Amino acid sequence: MLKISYPHLGDYHIPIRRLLQDLFPMAEIMPAPPFTQKTVELGARHSPDFVCAPFKYNMGNYIESLEAGANVLLQTGLGCRYGYYGEVQEQILRDLGYDFTFLCFSREKASPQNIYKACKKINPDLTFSVFSRVVLQTLLRLYCMDQLEYFLRERIGFAKSPNHFTSAKSSFLKEFLDTCSTPEIWGIYKKYKKYYHSIETHMPSDPLRVGIIGELYTLMEPYSNHFLEKQLAKGGIVVSRKMSASFLLFGKRDTRSLRCSKGYLQYTVGANGVDSVAGSRQYVKTGYDGLIHMKSFGCTPELNAQPALEQISRDYNIPILHLSFDTQTSETGLETRLEAFMDMIEMKRKQRNEKIRQPGSRHRFHLHKRRIY
Ligand code: SF4
Repeated sequence: MLKISYPHLGDYHIPIRRLLQDLFPMAEIMPAPPFTQKTVELGARHSPDFVCAPFKYNMGNYIESLEAGANVLLQTGLGCRYGYYGEVQEQILRDLGYDFTFLCFSREKASPQNIYKACKKINPDLTFSVFSRVVLQTLLRLYCMDQLEYFLRERIGFAKSPNHFTSAKSSFLKEFLDTCSTPEIWGIYKKYKKYYHSIETHMPSDPLRVGIIGELYTLMEPYSNHFLEKQLAKGGIVVSRKMSASFLLFGKRDTRSLRCSKGYLQYTVGANGVDSVAGSRQYVKTGYDGLIHMKSFGCTPELNAQPALEQISRDYNIPILHLSFDTQTSETGLETRLEAFMDMIEMKRKQRNEKIRQPGSRHRFHLHKRRIY
């Protein structure tokens, strides 16, 4: 029997699971076992030392999936060297003695025609119309999930009952996995959007706000960033992160991002480096109190973007915290840096408010500007 598995990427394993169930009804779909320290150790042990962390996390997921009985593995990637990881990972796994089929949809192999042909080899009954419908439904699912996530990230730290948002989210994801038709998907999204808005919060009128930018895998896989967004929310901070799967699929426009990065970047710097710079500018212009830049250790595109981000931080006098994650990152060290960062943005806010209160202060303009957005 076919047992298809794929690496983790936050909650996106739910729409991917549904997509694979619809494409291959005769197969067993098994997402990789949940992340543990063992996954990370396995991945790191069987990966080249200086490769970036997403490679190692994926390797850990693949090995655990194969050990759990999977015989088909999926990989996809574009943009940077991630697009070349599939071939290397396949070779390492074969050298370890595993026997499996590797479906790699990277670079030019990621075109809809190629993906359809590869799927048809596994499921000869698959028609192009079913394939297109299922893919479009998955895109809609991703869009809906991300829209709710944007809202949840901003509010979750202020919910009156701490588990209200998390339990709403798990029932949303559960119902979402069972949806079959486009109207059903849209209906569930609308239902939960209304519900999320009805959850009571005690949000202050002008809370501290932090914008998160950086490398997509580190942003989207919470295990790889030590659940940083949760930690910020616990500190009573509005968290915004617009870089997500739907941003990558529908929102990424290099020319627009370059326009927004004018004066800081003249050319794109690979992967999502330019989006990090454009995103930071949006955050500073809309009055955010701090920026967190997350990337994997050894990520060249984000390293290229770093000087521009530093310059933005100086020009707009906004604190920025650069965090580089690898499989060895220490949780305690991270907590300490995060606490110091939160103290700093709070202190800066107090200083600014004091200046605003002084008669004739030019900073009144900034207060006005904050409230426009
Ligand atoms: S964007 Fe950076 S961390 Fe992510 S795969 Fe590419 S090089 Fe690695």
